[in-house]
Amino acid sequence: MADSAVAVDLGGTWIRAGRVSPEGEVTQTVRAPTPQAGPEAVADAIAELVRRLGPLPPGRLGVAVPGPLSVREGVVFEPPNLQGWREVPLRGMLEKRLGRPVVLENDANAAAVGEWWRGAGRGSRHLVYVTVSTGVGGGLVLDGRLYRGATDTAGEIGHVLVDPAGPVCSCGRRGHLEGIASGPAIARWVLERIREGRPSVLATGRPLSAREVAEAAEAGDGLAREAFERAGRYLGWAVAGLLNLLNPEVVVIGGGVARAGRWLFDPLREAAREASFDRPWRAARIVPAALGDRAGLLGAAYVARKEGGISGG
Ligand SMILES: [Zn+2]
Repeated sequence: MADSAVAVDLGGTWIRAGRVSPEGEVTQTVRAPTPQAGPEAVADAIAELVRRLGPLPPGRLGVAVPGPLSVREGVVFEPPNLQGWREVPLRGMLEKRLGRPVVLENDANAAAVGEWWRGAGRGSRHLVYVTVSTGVGGGLVLDGRLYRGATDTAGEIGHVLVDPAGPVCSCGRRGHLEGIASGPAIARWVLERIREGRPSVLATGRPLSAREVAEAAEAGDGLAREAFERAGRYLGWAVAGLLNLLNPEVVVIGGGVARAGRWLFDPLREAAREASFDRPWRAARIVPAALGDRAGLLGAAYVARKEGGISGG
């Protein structure tokens, strides 16, 4: 056990902690609900959870955190899923509680590294990761290294503009991919069509989730299928831009909405093929993520193990 790393995946609802072997096996996990009482309570909960794993190994702890942060400064900015957080020096708060050095990483970046290390992108050198769930996020592994950009904010695929006349995004800007293709955006679009009088098995008057839309698509509902065709098409256009720009070998699509399978992947691949150049299109596989909710833990463990983080910054 001495060689295993300890990693933490902080989410808006759950905190997960686990031990990860040098080979990338998650050997132990524990979880607890994320306190909604602010950063100090969350830092306490993380420390408590990590202690439940037993004696800490030497070396750094990797912590995956939702939303924008500075890896170099160890500061979390304003994560949309954590209420009341603003410029939180989480790295120092955890180091004080745990007595070990800590590395913070954006959760989508961590998941990208996890899928690249031990998941659907295993063995590749250039990988684009896109997660589609409550939001749309992403991460880039280029030349075998996580690409963080000048100030650690690279990979925000959800906030690429895909339709200037589109709906307002959760970030407040109009026409971003997340405002069209995230789970809540898909459900919202269906409800708007139902309000306009479109027939659908989903016209129940209750709130709606993207999962229910996926089930209705599977069952043959025309409106539900159209909703995924639309979301898939916009995702595909964004992916085409990434293929042309970065020429990756693999594009990994994860997150809860990707569980809709072909209803999302067929239009996504079709749109990406039409909108990209031939050579980058043929070079890239577009595949579902393989690690589920373990990707973030694995990636955080990998980043912590590599001295200086894998971007060398
Ligand atoms: Zn946005």
